[in-house]
Amino acid sequence: MPTPHAPSEDPQPAPGALGFDPDALRARYRAERDRRIRPDGSRQYLSTTGEFGYYVDDPYVEPTPDREPLDDRVEVVIIGGGFGGLVAGARLRQAGVRDIRVIEKAGDFGGTWYWNRYPGIHCDIESYIYMPLLEEVGHVPKWKYAPGEEIRQHARAIGRRFELYRDVCFQTEVTELRWDEDEFEWIIRTDRGDRMRARYVVVSSGPFSRPKLPGIPGIETFRGHTFHTSRWDYAYTGGDADGALHKLADKKVAVIGTGATAIQCVPHLGRDAEHLYVFQRTPSSVDVRDNRPTDPEWARTLTPGWQRRRQENFLTQVAGGGADEDLVSDGWTTSARLLQSLLPGASGGGDQVSPEQRGLMAELADFKKMNEIRARVDAVIENHTTAEALKPWYRYMCKRPTFSDTYLSTFNRTNVTLVDTAGRGVERITESGLVVGGVEYEVDCVIFATGFDIGGPPAERAGLDVHGRDGVTLAESWKDGPRTLHGFYSHGFPNFFHLGSLQNAVSVNFVHVLDEQAIHIAEVVAEADKRQARYIEPTAEAEAAWVATIRARAVDSHALLAECTPGYYNNEGMPSKQSQSYGGGPIEFYELIERWRTDGDMGEVIIQ
Ligand code: NDP
Repeated sequence: MPTPHAPSEDPQPAPGALGFDPDALRARYRAERDRRIRPDGSRQYLSTTGEFGYYVDDPYVEPTPDREPLDDRVEVVIIGGGFGGLVAGARLRQAGVRDIRVIEKAGDFGGTWYWNRYPGIHCDIESYIYMPLLEEVGHVPKWKYAPGEEIRQHARAIGRRFELYRDVCFQTEVTELRWDEDEFEWIIRTDRGDRMRARYVVVSSGPFSRPKLPGIPGIETFRGHTFHTSRWDYAYTGGDADGALHKLADKKVAVIGTGATAIQCVPHLGRDAEHLYVFQRTPSSVDVRDNRPTDPEWARTLTPGWQRRRQENFLTQVAGGGADEDLVSDGWTTSARLLQSLLPGASGGGDQVSPEQRGLMAELADFKKMNEIRARVDAVIENHTTAEALKPWYRYMCKRPTFSDTYLSTFNRTNVTLVDTAGRGVERITESGLVVGGVEYEVDCVIFATGFDIGGPPAERAGLDVHGRDGVTLAESWKDGPRTLHGFYSHGFPNFFHLGSLQNAVSVNFVHVLDEQAIHIAEVVAEADKRQARYIEPTAEAEAAWVATIRARAVDSHALLAECTPGYYNNEGMPSKQSQSYGGGPIEFYELIERWRTDGDMGEVIIQ
């Protein structure tokens, strides 16, 4: 009998049995990563400020005329009008809070869906589980994967349904938050000269709110037209998010970047531009999309609570929990199930398996999945060199997986050229084009599909200057790393809540995570108000215990991430040693905070 955890003599099946050679794949993955690693890591990017500030001007509204600065008091200020801010507002409203003001720099609700309106934009998570509060708003999405405009309109519908338009401040940026110890209130200053007071502040600034540009030499010299995908210039391209970019018919267009955004807009550009050049540094994994309209018969069968059940079912699948039924049944859940099913112990007896063997089997399952992704490229692409260049050589979750039934075939068009930079990126930008391998590609327009700056803690990313008790700033308080209880609040910062993934649960269905957080915050606020508490603030002991739990339960993914090709998932090849999300996974986390709410007296945070 083998003893538990005893490594077998040759744990890796022979290549013949597998149909592929794991050692050869490992070597290829490493070589591809090595040629992309850069010493400047995330410093290679330029922020969209200063001379590049025009890249983030709002193309969707007129600048608002000056308004009188506000000097008043509200119960709750929510910073951010994306889905995080909206679900926080909705859940607080449901918990009985009457006086809520959302402050948002955009001209309307929607957050990432306000800014990102590029052609082809769709949700890559199933809309029935992604779009929050569907039952409350009374909406069933029209497609399995909703287009961006439907999602943006849904965000506005939430704003109307929960009366968040009543006191909103759009086109306004918070510049400073200062705790007033005498009044037990926050003083909030904005770029419009407001100086308002609020009992509670909720920050939900979103991970994708700051577009970034690649620091390509000469970027400032380009004389043609240029914009970032998150500020699509339809005045230049014509058309709308459904495509028909008719003004590009006589234009040569360059797209830089081949991430989740490019996968969705490239098919439209390829169809409508005179010529499209796609500048690629690292190809994405592109799986089957299979979008379809909602079946009205199915919609009629939905019973109250259906959305929550579906969200929880998806979460269980992708968190590796193994549910009996797969309600969503798409690329996310089937990949998760495939990876799970190939793990030893999947059908019981998992304790008999060493962590090394589990790791190895997970890697083999991953190779199998990525082989399928690469085989799909061969099946679709006609030109051999192009097909080879479009194949991703890294593990499935090293980059955000993408799904499209039109992206790959775009490269079969004669007016579309893939300019593969062999992992090195665009060399140089000139007045009239882009240079790769010494060849200059002259273009009329350069579109940056180069993503967002996600570094730094939420408040810092939002550009917030937060002064808590005794004037101590959040940055000072967190100088040795973030400190929270359950990710929601920090000692020294009373009545101040964070939404996001820090020291909390994470999932690819991020809006579901935000909604769970909003429910928690609303319950704590309602309870504090019921008890007429002085304020909400975690004790130093409770906070320290949670920081210790985060450390102790951290899944050590450093080695795995360090092996990945660079990208924002691994801080451009320099992953942090300390994970800042709850290592027990989202399901365990939600059980934990629900127990905390129901079993305890919330005495760790509600201060009488
Ligand atoms: P990403 O950060 O994923 O992609 C940026 C792209 O720019 C990469 O392909 C990168 O290459 C490339 N790039 C950067 N610098 C250079 C350079 N110097 N030369 C050439 N190429 C360069 O941004 P996205 O906007 O595509 O996606 C961001 C995130 O937004 C996604 O991961 C996803 O979470 C979310 N999203 C969600 C959608 C949804 O449907 N829910 C849709 C779209 C986006 P390299 O990989 O080599 O770094």
